[in-house]
Amino acid sequence: MEQLQASLQARGLSVSNLPDKGRSLVTTKDFYPGEVIISQEPYVFVPNNSLTESSCDGCFSKSNLKKCSACQVVWYCGSTCQKLEWKLHRLECQALAKLDKERRKSVTPTIRMMVKLYLRRKLQSERVIPVTAIDNYNLVEQLVSHMLDIDEKQLVLYAQMANLVNLILGCPDIDIKEIAENFSKIACNAHTICDSELRPLGTGLYPVISIINHSCLPNSVLVFEGRLAVVRAVQHIPKDAEILISYIETATSTITRQKTLKEQYLFTCTCPCCIKVGQHDDIQESAILEGYRCRDNRCSGFLLRESDDKGFVCQQCGLTRNKEEIRKKSRDIKALLDKAPKSTSSGNPQDAMILYKNIEKLQKEVCHPFSISLMRTWEKLHEILVQLEEWKEALTFCRLTIPVYERVYPGFHPLLGLQYYSCGKLEWLLLGETDDAIKSLTKAVDILRITHGTNTPFMKELLMKLEEARAEASYTLSCKE
Ligand SMILES: [Zn+2]
Ligand SMILES: [Zn+2]
Ligand SMILES: [Zn+2]
Ligand SMILES: [Zn+2]
Repeated sequence: MEQLQASLQARGLSVSNLPDKGRSLVTTKDFYPGEVIISQEPYVFVPNNSLTESSCDGCFSKSNLKKCSACQVVWYCGSTCQKLEWKLHRLECQALAKLDKERRKSVTPTIRMMVKLYLRRKLQSERVIPVTAIDNYNLVEQLVSHMLDIDEKQLVLYAQMANLVNLILGCPDIDIKEIAENFSKIACNAHTICDSELRPLGTGLYPVISIINHSCLPNSVLVFEGRLAVVRAVQHIPKDAEILISYIETATSTITRQKTLKEQYLFTCTCPCCIKVGQHDDIQESAILEGYRCRDNRCSGFLLRESDDKGFVCQQCGLTRNKEEIRKKSRDIKALLDKAPKSTSSGNPQDAMILYKNIEKLQKEVCHPFSISLMRTWEKLHEILVQLEEWKEALTFCRLTIPVYERVYPGFHPLLGLQYYSCGKLEWLLLGETDDAIKSLTKAVDILRITHGTNTPFMKELLMKLEEARAEASYTLSCKE
């Protein structure tokens, strides 16, 4: 712990025990927007591989993959990644190779995380892998497990998984209870590793990053460069303030956010957004994000349930919407949405487009214009139309999402930056929209520069696109003159 404090002190950070929160990461100096607060390599990590999709165990690449010939479980993109991972995989490989074929199929990414955790501990205790202040098993031991809050069913599942891990490791001296507790630690503390566009790649355990608590209105953001976790400030954070990131998708009502945090992370959020639950502003915001629209199409009021429960009343113009009418349309939407997963994965984007356009039509009759469900449909249509190379229409739906994004992802939020980037790319592609492309790409750069830094290949590509668009615009201008 002293070593960790000393190492953090050098970065302007400290671990404090805050009332009601437990361990927290606190600043001992000022941090400014875009500044890296802390970065960490994972203690252990695994790609999200399934029976149908694989990626490299070192870098998550999906191309040129070759299976490790000895264990037949792990994939590599080439010898560089294989060599880098060999110290740990050598032991894992021996253990996996001993399993029969059927058993090997039950080795999920979560089971592998646990196997790797114990093997890494072993290698560090034997000094085969070096130990540092921010890279050691003691930090894993200090993570919260919330064992007392877990229900019986989950405990049984963890015990079964622990048995399998023990069987793979082949060391009967490791305590099953301890392995089960570590599964709970992983569930509460592990992070989903995403690419620069926030698409999930794998899972990693970052014991120092795990000290950082959650807020629905955070002052920092966690992004990944490969498997390196990087936390950046998204606003000015003064000395002696707590570093906070968001653990969840925040584009929901307060009640939905609180439910997710309770179920997934077993705590009740008391951030400045959450303590407003039940207050007028919060009720209004929830009714906009997850509620219905006014019967009068020109009215942008939000609706609340009438006290006699007959319908929903617009809080702006007083018109009532019939409960049955809303219920029927909602059922129709649900029926269409239930068909959706099948139609998008079946590989016919044309069918998916028709389906989602029908969903959009119904949602527009029921949902508030700033509704999250409607926003999700627009995202889906944008995605499908890009697949169909219908750029112009794809842009229309991408643009529709922007005002909702601005509302639900305030400030420097990576998702808002990425959505501006998508808009800018489409505008750039559709010749003749160069000025709009410059505007969108500039907005994307303004946000992503803060959340992603400027040094990654992803950001270099974005900056280059903006340069090209600017050059094109000034060339067009000089031709006109
Ligand atoms: Zn690789
Ligand atoms: Zn192997
Ligand atoms: Zn909150
Ligand atoms: Zn109204």
